[in-house]
Amino acid sequence: MVLIVADALRADHLGAMGYPRDTSPHIDDLAREGVLFRNLVAQSSHTVPSVAALLTGDYPGALGIEYWPRMRGFSEDAVGVPPTLPARVDTLAERLQASGFETAAVVANPWLRDDYGFAQGYERYLVSGADGSALRHGGAAINDVAMEILRAERDRGLFLYLHYLDTHNPYGRGHVPARYRTDVGREVYRNGRVPELADVDLEFTRALYDEGIRYFDGLIGDLRARLDEEGLLDDTLIVLVSDHGDEFYEHGGLGHGKTLYNEVIRSFALFWSPRFAPAASDLPAQGIDVAPTVLRLLGLKPPSDVAGRALLDERGRPIERAAAPRFSELGPIKTVVTDEWKLLVGPRGVERFFRIRPRLGLEAPVAAPEPDVASELRHELARHVSSRRREEPRAPADIDASTREALRALGYLEP
Ligand SMILES: [Zn+2]
Repeated sequence: MVLIVADALRADHLGAMGYPRDTSPHIDDLAREGVLFRNLVAQSSHTVPSVAALLTGDYPGALGIEYWPRMRGFSEDAVGVPPTLPARVDTLAERLQASGFETAAVVANPWLRDDYGFAQGYERYLVSGADGSALRHGGAAINDVAMEILRAERDRGLFLYLHYLDTHNPYGRGHVPARYRTDVGREVYRNGRVPELADVDLEFTRALYDEGIRYFDGLIGDLRARLDEEGLLDDTLIVLVSDHGDEFYEHGGLGHGKTLYNEVIRSFALFWSPRFAPAASDLPAQGIDVAPTVLRLLGLKPPSDVAGRALLDERGRPIERAAAPRFSELGPIKTVVTDEWKLLVGPRGVERFFRIRPRLGLEAPVAAPEPDVASELRHELARHVSSRRREEPRAPADIDASTREALRALGYLEP
């Protein structure tokens, strides 16, 4: 099976999610033929906690891997501490490896380094190193390495995790053809607030982002065609998810990892196999449900020691279940989302309430819901926060100079 994470791919910029630009014809085909969950909450708007949740089935707080925006790192007590996915955590790869699967990963995001704990359970873990190779060449290089692995392991059960950065800022990469960009305007990119932004620059930046999505979509089409040529497609389960979206000035900022509004945490999950009956589901889903779903689809028992639950049965049919609150977090910024409501608590404890329209992915600010609704939301969030696991404080280590450079190129580590 192939698990694809598209970094910073915003759900509502896909054709299958109703976006007016034709950004994603190949992904839309997969969505039409597979099972698309359109109402998924990502567990964070920062890559590290969100991907940790996707690849383990548990909340970042329970894993002990939380991003603290003010500290620009992974400790609430010290600045610039690199992430650690603790060794005690059982990753999806470890669970599959224990069941006899071959495991491999090709990962473009330098946050997800092997020495930060993300290679747990992989026989081969290729991550964009300090030289930024996977960044320079984009996802075409990932496709080539992926096909080599898929060909070599064709007779064995394989779990292959591919993490692409082609949809991540900065958007204007040399190899991405112009398609939507206008003659005026310039790219503005940063993760966070932008005091002033001209309309033409916003439009230009958004067009570059959409061109990146279209380019990535072409890579998905290419991967599918090559799997087909090799005779591998009929036996391959493809799962496509995103770790978070990007802001386009809906709340005064760009990029991600600073807020938990819907533009960054509302996501999707796409499960494709020729065996599945096509379906589109608005059932409430979360990033933590992806790993348990993969296990179930591969005929294994989903773990009972994580918070995530399988979204599909072994034949790929969506599982109805009782509505339960969903959570997303970014250090002190936390949110709880129910079918109807969202409570977002800011870094200084300020509460904001929203009315949710799941099918459209919209959130409408409201002054305050009825008192019993507000107190129920507060109660759920407090219960979630209290289940958080505090890791032993770690000696502040430095992010090494070359990784720091690669991260800075992606808009992280800004002062
Ligand atoms: Zn990311």
